Amino acid sequence: MLSIGIDIGGMSIKIGLVDENGKIVDIAREKIADSFEKVLAGIEKQIDFLLSKNNITIDKVKGIGIGCPGMLSKDGIVEVFPNLGWKNAPLVPLLKDRYKTEVRISNDANVATLAEAYYGVAKDYNDVVMFTLGTGVGGGVVIDKKLFEGGDKKGTELGHTTLILGGVPCKCGRRGCLESYVSATALIRQTKAAMNKDPKSKMWDFVGGDIEKVDGRTAFECSKTGDKTAIKVINKFVAYLSDGIMNMLNIFRPQAFIIGGGISGQGDYLIDKVKKYCKKYHYGYENAPKAEIFAAKLGNDAGIIGAAALLNQ
Ligand SMILES: [Zn+2]
Repeated sequence: MLSIGIDIGGMSIKIGLVDENGKIVDIAREKIADSFEKVLAGIEKQIDFLLSKNNITIDKVKGIGIGCPGMLSKDGIVEVFPNLGWKNAPLVPLLKDRYKTEVRISNDANVATLAEAYYGVAKDYNDVVMFTLGTGVGGGVVIDKKLFEGGDKKGTELGHTTLILGGVPCKCGRRGCLESYVSATALIRQTKAAMNKDPKSKMWDFVGGDIEKVDGRTAFECSKTGDKTAIKVINKFVAYLSDGIMNMLNIFRPQAFIIGGGISGQGDYLIDKVKKYCKKYHYGYENAPKAEIFAAKLGNDAGIIGAAALLNQ
């Protein structure tokens, strides 16, 4: 049976028909409009288009799943979506009303975790934890193939756990959060600081002398060519990330841990270093259960696939 998966982002919305193996059968896109009402109308237009194009009616799909950033209520109301200025947008109730079908919603990091746990690198594991490393650090927890969303289904905030007491200020108001050390934003900050201390670093050539061109790839790529300063940045970044991962392994004892987001594009180059670091510390103590560590593999499709997977819950 097909499901409808909707991935709402800051710039665009992707709507897909997903089969029971997590394969996207058809996809439609809609630009973000300037009001919730217009976005909802756009979503409905694309759902209707996909259904009619594929010759199916809504009663023949399992339901509609939605991945959406921001603060969500357990009744499917988007309480706050800062980038789009939504406040108390009744997304799920209105779609339920219109389509008379099951409608589920969860935040983008949860949905990405669910996608990998059902159809991606961790499909053979029941207990899975994931970090998505982007502008911030999102996190998802799947226990016994079920998403753990915490009180009022507000989701978990794995990125806002303290890594360094009294460390770098975080936008949540605390200091030293994991997010302030292992997000792409943090890596860029660490890379720039190291470059400013070493005018001879190859990283300057890599960005054509313009420090504003530094991104999440700069230190990684230059470390591969042997630049000592870049290697130091990456080693430190890996240490922060691995310690953050070990904290999660000690709490949840998952069978699989996934690293997602743009930085996970470094694949084995990153994963091998993280594994080596974690192995050294025996995940807490010798004989502690070991988790497999993976880079996410579903990439941009994870939003749609994971949204559809909400209906497996
Ligand atoms: Zn924080």
